[in-house]
Amino acid sequence: MKSTAISALHVETVKQSRIDQVDFDNLDFGKVFTDHMFVCEYKNGSWQTPTIKPYQSISLDPSASVFHYGQAVFEGMKAYKDAEGQILMFRPEDNLDRINKSAKRMAIPEFPKEYFFEGLEALLKLDTDWIKSGAGNSLYIRPFVIATEAGVRASAAQEYMFFIICSPAQSYYGGEVRVKIEEHFSRAASGGVGYAKAAGNYGGQFYPTQLAAKEGFQQIIWTDAKNHEYVEEAGTMNLFFRINDTLVTGPTSDTILDGITRKSLIELARHNNITIEERPVKVTELVEAAKNGSLKEMFGAGTAAVINPIKGFGFRDERFELEDVPNSYASLFKKQLTDIQYNLDADPFEWRYLV
Ligand code: PMP
Repeated sequence: MKSTAISALHVETVKQSRIDQVDFDNLDFGKVFTDHMFVCEYKNGSWQTPTIKPYQSISLDPSASVFHYGQAVFEGMKAYKDAEGQILMFRPEDNLDRINKSAKRMAIPEFPKEYFFEGLEALLKLDTDWIKSGAGNSLYIRPFVIATEAGVRASAAQEYMFFIICSPAQSYYGGEVRVKIEEHFSRAASGGVGYAKAAGNYGGQFYPTQLAAKEGFQQIIWTDAKNHEYVEEAGTMNLFFRINDTLVTGPTSDTILDGITRKSLIELARHNNITIEERPVKVTELVEAAKNGSLKEMFGAGTAAVINPIKGFGFRDERFELEDVPNSYASLFKKQLTDIQYNLDADPFEWRYLV
């Protein structure tokens, strides 16, 4: 659905683009940002006139709530360009819904839909040259909200800033991925903020991930905080397992992020007549399936990586490796999903959003 225009959107453009300084063939993920950014302030109980302005540093009071109490939420989405030069997005309403769900949990005011789409579309059109067509190329879009009110009182702030910044991207992960099934640290607990894209959920993962890296793992598979009995998700990906020919993924809950890639894969699986089970997955079931050879594939699913095949996993002192399978589900889904995203195929689910 298209949004209505806000005539009040204020646009200030750069005098000179930085695009000539960027080597688009050697992009470091999330390091380079486009010429412009979208900013909207919240004060006196409402969101103010949104602005697009040159990408720049911001200045905040050192006592701003975000620095002390982590009142911050974000999103991750992508824009693509097809062979005709049209800018496309993938299910962006879902990202808006989710940032507002995350915001609510963190006592942050929800962001208006009209402001979001008007600002986002204007920003993408302004920085269109930064979106390259061709396989794997995209513009990674990072909307986020921070509490900016000055003062160290530990309560919900009265002032916020909503931003959208954009970073040109190629494919996210390189190399083989092996994961550690984590039993000591937890990512999220029932009743907590695991389902939200709250900043602290990510900061809390870095230390256990650094420890896992020392053991040779690129990512952690989080398990439920209570008994470490069920697998939940990986760093920024939902998990899928292929056991024989059945695809299995854990149900979303208050500890698992409701991934847009995840729910798209569930629909794609049904479309391909692949049996898909959304149910709790026990660690012991995976270990058993790895031992008896019925675990054919494991992969993570998320916007940044799209689909990330997992080569092996570690559990306690044991390590398991997965054989490569011909015609893997991971490659089938990756092709189908990206063909929809890049406008190379039909869009039977109406996921594409033309900017
Ligand atoms: N889980 C977590 C914790 C994430 O941060 C992400 C990335 N947003 C995902 C799963 C995948 O979600 P999506 O497919 O919407 O990117």
